[in-house]
Amino acid sequence: MRAAMKSPQPIRGMQSLLGEEADRMAAVVAAFDRVRRLYGFQRVEVPVLEATEVFARTIGETTDVVSKEMYSFDDRSGDSVTMRPEFTAGIARSFLSEGWQQYAPLKVATHGPAFRYERPQKGRFRQFHQLDAEIIGAAEPASDVELLAFADQLLKELGIGEGAILNLNTLGDPETRNAWRDALYEHFNAHSSDLSEESRDRLERNPLRILDSKAHSDWPIVDSAPVIDDFLTSEAADFFAAVTAGLDAAGVRWERAPRLVRGLDYYRHTAFEFITDRLGAQGTVLAGGRYDGLIETLGGPHTPAVGWAAGIERLSMMIGAPEPERPDVVLIPLGERGEAAAQRLLADLRRDGIAAEMAFRGNMKKRLSRANSAGARFALILGDDELERGVIQVKDLRSGEQSAVALGEVAEAVRA
Ligand code: ATP
Ligand code: MG
Repeated sequence: MRAAMKSPQPIRGMQSLLGEEADRMAAVVAAFDRVRRLYGFQRVEVPVLEATEVFARTIGETTDVVSKEMYSFDDRSGDSVTMRPEFTAGIARSFLSEGWQQYAPLKVATHGPAFRYERPQKGRFRQFHQLDAEIIGAAEPASDVELLAFADQLLKELGIGEGAILNLNTLGDPETRNAWRDALYEHFNAHSSDLSEESRDRLERNPLRILDSKAHSDWPIVDSAPVIDDFLTSEAADFFAAVTAGLDAAGVRWERAPRLVRGLDYYRHTAFEFITDRLGAQGTVLAGGRYDGLIETLGGPHTPAVGWAAGIERLSMMIGAPEPERPDVVLIPLGERGEAAAQRLLADLRRDGIAAEMAFRGNMKKRLSRANSAGARFALILGDDELERGVIQVKDLRSGEQSAVALGEVAEAVRA
């Protein structure tokens, strides 16, 4: 005899969604797809799995993502592969290996699942979903502006424009960044005994990352850290001024966040986050920036680029409930002949673009209540008597009115 088996549980941080929650995510994706067309971003698909080095080289060994969040494993041939923790690295890899360079400047958009081994909590999962938009091969600040205007319009169309504020910073060019990094090192080194263990560890490896610390005890020291403005080269300052002037011209509201750095190492110049106070600790809904150095770290030519990603779960928690999907009609067959005829009518109605369901369980009362609870506008009742006459009873479930309609004219009658 087989021992009773415990049925399998989901993997921690991975969700199955039914109904409204799934509809919300679909509504976010639909809005994204609509807006990306207005901005001329082509749809792309990239693999979920990449060689581990694609992420390790681009995102940076000192980041949380690479050092502790990646789902990496050896595949059956012993090669180390990683489930994408984000889209940018895979798109950059494709840009190089698939010959997309010939189309530069290239505006692309995609969405789908991403994986990070994090502690699950509200708005934070191990399998989550991102929207992603990138412009590859464009060095002009106008690209940063276009990308931010796209993000801004998307959030407005989702009805959360007021709830999410664009926090904007520049990370300057490499010269700026090096000078700022030295100053940050000095500042944090002077306070090193008060820093969290993790930040002390980052001090030698990458002091910029301390600005991104999640340890509350670090925050006062972060708040008194030198800001990048004192170190900007004139080129870097000009670039940032062009971006902010463009945003103002395009009517995109922004706020300066002089200590904002991003969790990933590849950013240069523009860095930004749309932040909300409606989701507790998980307040960043959309984030990105310019990553001019990334494609070179993959062995490609110098290729300026800028992009963003947004968490679909976080956005979908902020939007109003989408209209539930309802059938236009529910067919109620009575008797064997009625059922056969209803099968045919059901298929015909659906081919005519009418959302139709059939209620074939229980007595008439049960079937009618099923039609009502499904939210249908009409119940269509088909029994022997109707079949003889070549008609069907169309019952308007709002008014309760009922009338006989010729079988061939049902679609017209219910379309209204
Ligand atoms: P956080 O600071 O919240 O960890 P991050 O800087 O790691 O975010 P990015 O790498 O910029 O996030 O990813 C872009 C967006 O993807 C985030 O702003 C967020 O909306 C979403 N996101 C990132 N990690 C998760 C996760 N584990 N679960 C759900 N959404 C996530
Ligand atoms: Mg993170």
